[in-house]
Amino acid sequence: MNPTSFAALKLSPQSLQALDRAGFEHPTPIQAGAIPPALEGRDVIGTAATGTGKTAAFLLPIIERLAGKPGTRALVLAPTRELALQIGEELERFGRNRRVGGTVVIGGVGLGGQKAALQEGRSVVIATPGRLVDHLQQGHARLDGIEVLVLDEADRMLDMGFKPQLDRILARLPKKRQTLLFSATMAGEVADFARAHLREPVRVEVARSGTTAARAEQQVFLAPQTEKLALLLALLERDDVSTLVFTRTKRRADRVAKGLDRAGHKVARIHADRSQAQRRSALDGFKDGTYRVLVATDIAARGIDVAEIGHVVNFDLPHVPEDYVHRIGRTARNQASGRASSFTSPEEQDLLRAIERLTRAPIPRAEVPREEATFQ
Ligand code: ADP
Ligand code: MG
Repeated sequence: MNPTSFAALKLSPQSLQALDRAGFEHPTPIQAGAIPPALEGRDVIGTAATGTGKTAAFLLPIIERLAGKPGTRALVLAPTRELALQIGEELERFGRNRRVGGTVVIGGVGLGGQKAALQEGRSVVIATPGRLVDHLQQGHARLDGIEVLVLDEADRMLDMGFKPQLDRILARLPKKRQTLLFSATMAGEVADFARAHLREPVRVEVARSGTTAARAEQQVFLAPQTEKLALLLALLERDDVSTLVFTRTKRRADRVAKGLDRAGHKVARIHADRSQAQRRSALDGFKDGTYRVLVATDIAARGIDVAEIGHVVNFDLPHVPEDYVHRIGRTARNQASGRASSFTSPEEQDLLRAIERLTRAPIPRAEVPREEATFQ
């Protein structure tokens, strides 16, 4: 498929500028397919695997539609707190220069502060269904001005048993509205749900094989914590490619970087305690090949766009399964091949299963290379 440009999708100059700043060069297939009908105001059903850029596919049309209009006019429903927060961050990134802001409404946080935020009337409310129903019951949220509804990961919301909450929310929304539904699959309940709530939807389906997640060759190693560094050194010996290593904490990022440096590798690190200047020089050095290895935490790695990453290593598995997809989406960009290796200690097997449930595919187990013993 010819990579279309964002400009060809008729987005505003401000959105093009925000995309450019985020390092998004070309639309992903779901973005290229879903943005034009969404901009026309049509209902859309978008089917594509996790990690294929569905968030921007619905946020950009919302931003174009709501720029310059007062009050809350869009509602985005997502299955988990983490997803709602990520959508909020992405809205911040793309909507800021159009003054289209959002309020994130999730469980685990007091109702009072959220009530005040809801009453500010920012353009977009991003919510998990359970928490939004709580606010509706208490009269904190009014939904009669909603023009656009997004159901993100609709299949998961239904799998998680949110149908009653979704029904209650939908009953409060204006009938005349635009509805955008995204799902990894249209099998089962979700098809009935879409039939009941969308009007003459445009269907945009992206085959699984085209996704970033599927393109990277993935493997899992079983490695106790004490053997992870030795394993990383062995893999760096084996594949001479530029490598991005994720750790779960800043402290661990420092420790891994130090271990690699001692073994003679050219390594840089980025995390939240590093200054902006340090991060920039680490990233520039990684891009131009001064450093072969970059060690990063998830937060610091958001938005990293380096074309030539050959190997992503999950030194630790992320606590949030979606972060796995974001991490490995950093390799095998633009049809290049890439590898993603995950080191899992016995304590991380539950996290691994959560990731495999999310991506709906088992990740092949790999043998720890034998030479590894020499690094102990
Ligand atoms: P999905 O909702 O399909 O799981 P996301 O919207 O969370 O996927 O996107 C996955 C990752 O890809 C995010 O880190 C996002 O910033 C990045 N991304 C999305 N679209 C593009 C693009 N056109 N170019 C580069 N990166 C992108
Ligand atoms: Mg998503």
